[in-house]
Amino acid sequence: MFRSLGSVVLLLGAAQGALAQAPHVSAPITDVSYEITADSSAVTRRQLGVVMSFRVTGTAPVVLALPAWSPGHYTLLWFARRVSEFSAQSASAPLEWRKLDYQTWQITPRSAGMVRVSFKYLADAVDRAVAWTAPNFAFFNGTNVFLYPVGRGFTWPARVSIHTQPSWLVATGMDPASGVNNFTASNYHDLTDMPFYVGRFAIDSAQVAGKWIRLAFYPAASLTTARRDRTFAWLQKIVPAHVAVFGDASFRNYTIFQRSDTLVNGGGLEHQSSQVDEVLTSQLDASYLPGLYSHEFFHAWNVKRLRPADMVPYRYDDAQPTTWLWVSEGVTDYYGALALVRGGINDSTGFFNFIAGEIASVAGAPPTAVSDASLSPWINPTDGSSGLYYPKGGLTGFLLDIMIRDASDNRSSLDAVMRTLYNRTYKRGRGFTRTDWWAEVSRAAGGRSFTDFARRYVDGREPLPVEATLRLAGLRARNDTIREPRLGVSPATDTNGVAITQLAPTGAAAAAGARVGDRIVSIGDVAISNDDSFDVFRTRYAGTTLTTLPLVVRRGTETITLQLPVRLFARTQTQVSPIPNAPAKALRIRQGILKGSTS
Ligand SMILES: [Zn+2]
Repeated sequence: MFRSLGSVVLLLGAAQGALAQAPHVSAPITDVSYEITADSSAVTRRQLGVVMSFRVTGTAPVVLALPAWSPGHYTLLWFARRVSEFSAQSASAPLEWRKLDYQTWQITPRSAGMVRVSFKYLADAVDRAVAWTAPNFAFFNGTNVFLYPVGRGFTWPARVSIHTQPSWLVATGMDPASGVNNFTASNYHDLTDMPFYVGRFAIDSAQVAGKWIRLAFYPAASLTTARRDRTFAWLQKIVPAHVAVFGDASFRNYTIFQRSDTLVNGGGLEHQSSQVDEVLTSQLDASYLPGLYSHEFFHAWNVKRLRPADMVPYRYDDAQPTTWLWVSEGVTDYYGALALVRGGINDSTGFFNFIAGEIASVAGAPPTAVSDASLSPWINPTDGSSGLYYPKGGLTGFLLDIMIRDASDNRSSLDAVMRTLYNRTYKRGRGFTRTDWWAEVSRAAGGRSFTDFARRYVDGREPLPVEATLRLAGLRARNDTIREPRLGVSPATDTNGVAITQLAPTGAAAAAGARVGDRIVSIGDVAISNDDSFDVFRTRYAGTTLTTLPLVVRRGTETITLQLPVRLFARTQTQVSPIPNAPAKALRIRQGILKGSTS
């Protein structure tokens, strides 16, 4: 069923311009420009003021729509629901308008000339795909506010002007135009793929791999010198590893937009020349950050440029499912982790732990074809397979990499597949198809057929051949039972440290006399400074024979040392590790993957 759904979707995708939108085709418009007002008074009301201006040649109705989703965030959000005070005018006189559906407006000009459409946009969503404001700041995506003429394609140019306080900053990936805070884009796809920060945020830049990379952080205080230096040092290791896979970088410059808050839904959203990251305040120094930056950065190639044909071009009015999200997201996860080890941020153990995590995630989900899982973010399934295209796609990419290197005696790799597809599809203005993908995988593997692999493990639900394939790279996966200590608390981290917000009545911390509100200073010899510290504590004392540990807490102005009874709990953990004395060929394959090299 899902396979045939996939082909129906392909047909709809190809025909949507001609069929689905035929009932409402706009009169042509030219000289399109937008003005966004994000000044102090607008953001205090949590609104953006939006004006769209364009020229018409007659009185035929103009049909304008707002997108239903932001590419990369595969969920229908219906941005029109945040619109209020819609109006249209020409030569300062109001024009007739009506809604054709919930996200489409029809405006009737009285004569040839300029038309001006305006509305207010509610900007209070804690969501990377939407818009958010604070008293000194606004963030928005082009998909939220830029109306487009229905049925007229997306290849027309546009100009954007931002009206804001004179002392506030504006950051966007759009090309600057003459004047203050004016920008241009040559087509609607680029226009809506360049998010904006407006207000009082911190910005800094450095050259990485020959390109200018900017950090735009809000609030401004979150970009400390130490974080700036550390982030650029990570990027100096990550970005060259990504460039080495594809052979070039097509973006002119790149921006990391990062907002931190105690309420954000942590994670990132990719764009062609930027990423929008949301980081919990407690996670600003967390160990997962380089992995987040690496994953989102790899998307600048994989999905923003090298993209499944099902999503070329993007449509904005409705869902655009593809069975290939396992490549767009899962393989991005794989290369996100690979760049960390290839660049030297992680050692090989860190990479093996990443693979072990993917294996455990797949094992913990119901048997699901990864191509079916790829279709499902639009419906957010409840059967436990939600998001499975990430770990199962990453693991499938890893196994394919090993098989290609094994078949070619490490003369080729998945890197070569990605690079060739990038050159032969994206650079020729199209998306990749099923035929493109498997033909390149097969070519890289010296002509070996992957028909059976695709049928059983990608489009089918058979368990991936993990053990047999890992062995080809001199690796094995084991399930170990580890006994690790548990505290029995729910912690919350803020700028003052880690506080206990809940205590399990029968837990070890409660038995030691800890109370809700205590701030944990240290456990044994592990200092507790953020959420990551608990992982360090569990690893440090796994299997310990100690019966008590000192638990140091701050209670009000006092610092108290409690005696924590050690209570160990068994947990099954997947581990990936090198096989001792593996054959030379397997070692070449493993080293090739870790270093990004071929023989
Ligand atoms: Zn992603």
